[in-house]
Parts: sequence; structure tokens; C-alpha cells
Amino acid sequence: ARKYVVKRHFQGVPKRDDFEIVEYELPPLKDGNFTVKSEWISVDPYIRAYNPNIPTPYDQFSFQLGKVVESKNPDFPVGCKVVSHKGWCDYTVFDDLVEVEIGFASVYKLPDLHGLPEELAVGALGMPGVTAYFGLLEICQPKAGETVVVTGAAGAVGSIVGQIAKIKGCRVIGFAGSDDKVEWLEKELGFDKAINYKTADVRKALKEAAPNGVDCYFDNVGGELTAVIYSQMNKFGRVSLCGCISSYNDDPSKMTKTTTLLPSILFNQLKIEGFIVSRWASPENRWPEAISQLAQWIKSGNIKTRSHVTEGFDKIYDAFIGMLAGENKGKAVVKV
Ligand code: NDP
Repeated sequence: ARKYVVKRHFQGVPKRDDFEIVEYELPPLKDGNFTVKSEWISVDPYIRAYNPNIPTPYDQFSFQLGKVVESKNPDFPVGCKVVSHKGWCDYTVFDDLVEVEIGFASVYKLPDLHGLPEELAVGALGMPGVTAYFGLLEICQPKAGETVVVTGAAGAVGSIVGQIAKIKGCRVIGFAGSDDKVEWLEKELGFDKAINYKTADVRKALKEAAPNGVDCYFDNVGGELTAVIYSQMNKFGRVSLCGCISSYNDDPSKMTKTTTLLPSILFNQLKIEGFIVSRWASPENRWPEAISQLAQWIKSGNIKTRSHVTEGFDKIYDAFIGMLAGENKGKAVVKV
């Protein structure tokens, strides 16, 4: 079998030789064990974000969907599909089962996707979808008629956030990094306005798009763009702080000052809450609730999904770097 091992801590943009593809023998199956062949492997920003905090070397984690190919566990027979957090490997032996519930459990059976594409299990019907669902609805609590802004709008999480906000009757403005993404958000996903943050005068563009100010902000990127959005928020606006990808590659010792944000937070009396999606997995596991609602919305056409697919186990690094650089529209996944 093969797996990606992270050899050292990343400096700036992760480099190909920070990873090593290691070949190893799978252990023989004992009772209760089974072997999974990976079919879809996810590449996500947290792979970059969590790296400084983990002692190296370590096996690269991420969500993945695979098929049981050998089994000594009647609950996971050959042919059964499972989602796990086993990461960038082509085969795995599961010998450490602790839970079988949806969420950050060691493994769970592919939930009924009602005929939707299976890779959604690591996208809109997996961790990114659950992030969008609870991060928006529980933290921002958007109400019909309010203006919602989302950054990273054309990505896995952001594209779902914007569409949920539309379902809730909000006016939705998205920021993304190319004209192609802007067009997709406005023409296909029904955003009221999308703005290319790389080319627009963002301050002016947001003023025009949200003349009455911003009520809710779902932040995927942080940085200067976030400072501009905070400054145009209405009194008692709510911010869901989901990610800050604009600084994940930065040297932690050179992080910029926060002084530009603070007056906006103070004078606009903002309520800001950071969150990690695992909070809805335990002690009470609410992931199934989000996944089932999202599946209904996708089935009914209220939410559209898109997978940005890279093919091949050897291309996972390229898919990961491409995602960090903004090549993906929708969820970046690797078909093994
Ligand atoms: P995406 O599918 O959105 O992919 C990442 C995107 O980030 C790229 O496509 C790119 O789009 C954008 N990006 C890259 N660099 C910058 C930059 N400097 N400034 C602005 N945008 C940038 O990834 P996800 O949807 O999986 O994740 C989005 C965010 O949500 C991340 O910050 C991630 O860490 C966070 N997250 C947090 C979770 C939580 O529990 N809190 C769970 C899951 C995700 P573009 O072309 O627009 O630049």
C-alpha cells in the first residue's frame, strides 16, 4: 500500500518534497478488521492550517471515501462504502474501530445519498457541507431580507453557505478570486452579486452591492478583505469566523496587527464567533441532521454542487496546491 507522509513542517506554500509517498505492507486481517481501497480523497485548507501544530513525521489525514475489499467484520462486508479520516493513502486496514457514527468517528458507512454523486460524501454532504450549514445557521442566524456576505464564495464551504442564505431569503454577496468564479456564482448559483476580490476596488464594490450594509458575514479568508467587510457591517452584525486561508501560508512570527479590525468591531458592536465543525459532532452528533437537510436541498435543486476533480493518487499534492491557489470551483477532490 502507499501513503503520503509529511516529513517536515511547511515553510510558506507546502512543497512537493515536504511529503513522501511511502510504500508499506498492509498487516494481515484479524477478526473485526477490514481493508478499504480509497476511491475519493479530499484536499482541504486545514491540511495546511494544522501542520505547524503536529509533530513530524505524520501520515497525512483528510476525509476520504473508499470501498471495503476484504473483510473479517460482518458490519463492514466486502463492497460496503465507508467514509473515514484516513487521509492520503490508497489502501487502509481498519483495526481501530471506535465509533460508527457520522462525523469525526474513525469510520462510518456512506449515508444514503439518494442517488447523488458519491464524492459529495467528502464535500457538500460531508465535512464542508456541515461546516456551511451550522456555521451559517447557528452562528450568523440569518433572517429573511438581511444581507449576507461570504468570502471564499466559490469554494467547497462558501458555495454552499451562499445558497443556504438564499434559501433563507437573504440577499447574498460573494467574494471570489476570478471572473469565471464570479460568473458561476451569479449565473448558476443565484448569488445576488459576486465580486472578484483580486481585481475590484472591494470597498467601493461592496458599498454598491450592499448599500444598506452587511448583517451577516461568513468569513473563510480573513486578511484585508475581512477588514473591509467589517467596516461595512451594520450595528449588531454577526460574523461566523470559519477560516482565514489568506494567512495559512504566512510565517507565524510575522502575522500582521489586528488594529484595523478593532474599531469596526467596537463601533459596529459586532458579535464574532470562531468555530470548528467538530463541535457539532460531539457530545451530541448533529452531522446527520445537516447532511439530511443538505441532501434534500440538493435533490430539489435548491443547492447546486460542483466537484473539481483531479485524477490519480500521484496527483494529490498537485490537487492540494491547486486548491490553495484557487484553481477549484466547488469542492476539490481526488479520484484515486
Ligand atoms: P475552498 O474550496 O474554498 O478552497 C480554498 C479557496 O480559498 C481557494 O479556491 C481560493 O479561492 C481561496 N483562497 C486561497 N488563498 C486566498 C487568499 N489569500 N485570499 C482569499 N481567498 C483565498 O476550501 P474550503 O471550502 O474547504 O475551506 C474554506 C475555508 O473554510 C478555509 O479557510 C478553511 O480552513 C475553512 N474551514 C473551516 C472549518 C471549520 O471547522 N472552522 C471546516 C472547513 C473549512 P479564490 O479563487 O476565491 O481565491
